Amino acid sequence: MRITGKTKIYVLFGHPVQHSLSPVMQNAAFQALGLDCLYIPWSVPPRAFPDTLKALRDMENFGGGNVTIPHKEQAAALVDDLSPEAALLNAVNTLVKEEGHLVGHNTDGAGFLQSLREDAGFDPKGKRVLLLGAGGAAKAIAFALAEVGVGGLFISNRTWQRAETLAQLVGGKYPGCQILALGLQKEPLVPVLASIDLLVNATSVGLHASDPSLIDCGALNPQAVVVDLIYNPEETTLLREAKARGLKAVNGLGMLLHQGALAFERWTKQKAPLAVMRGALFSRFP
Ligand code: NDP
Repeated sequence: MRITGKTKIYVLFGHPVQHSLSPVMQNAAFQALGLDCLYIPWSVPPRAFPDTLKALRDMENFGGGNVTIPHKEQAAALVDDLSPEAALLNAVNTLVKEEGHLVGHNTDGAGFLQSLREDAGFDPKGKRVLLLGAGGAAKAIAFALAEVGVGGLFISNRTWQRAETLAQLVGGKYPGCQILALGLQKEPLVPVLASIDLLVNATSVGLHASDPSLIDCGALNPQAVVVDLIYNPEETTLLREAKARGLKAVNGLGMLLHQGALAFERWTKQKAPLAVMRGALFSRFP
């Protein structure tokens, strides 16, 4: 990689960022298209994020970047403009600087839908979905699923009140969407599991290899598709148990790829080299 005086810098803002796979994926994409651009991860504590962004935004060769935990909501308050998706979620995962103007986008929901279609071959329109979790990722996914017209959306979360708040938020925007908030107790979930077409784990349970599955895969409809947003470990207990029962099960690497590809396209106005980006990501998971 050759750095020049004109190299455009894209920054990943997060805390921490050490384990992020975005730098390897985005730099491979810049190189593949011969772009004089560089993507660097910066670990910025929350208290320093506003000043960091304020200082960087006026640097002429700063092009934007990505925002991850815990800065996504703070970023929404710091940009000049928000895309409709970022405004809806009040969260930014992509920053684009255009003529000195900093615009916040959110590609998480669209990235999830693309992965669902490509990696799982699943079209959610009219389907019944159980979404586990009510945090930032679950919020993006709930809005994306409501937008494409799912037939029913169950949101199940350890803290029921958060599930209810998310259900009301999504229901307020999509009044035609059937949404029900649930807790995470196993018994009441059994009839729901038998009736759904898609299960999405958007909780952080599974990040440790020893984490158990939050649901009993044996209670799922045998045609159901299971998606776990977690990609490291590559196969969570949930995915392992789903596969053992013959269910189609995919991890979160595809969502990571597609949200990153959509960010790349917003920065460069060029089609993202998906095969190169996928290759760079998968090289980390032999
Ligand atoms: P948040 O911290 O915003 O939300 C965490 C969620 O996990 C909450 O719903 C929380 O429930 C739930 N949770 C945490 N611990 C437990 C537990 N012990 N039992 C049950 N539920 C629990 O995180 P995000 O929404 O940003 O991320 C969620 C997951 O999605 C993470 O694993 C992350 O790595 C992954 N992710 C993957 C992406 C991809 O591109 N593949 C993109 C973004 C996220 P409660 O409300 O009760 O605390």
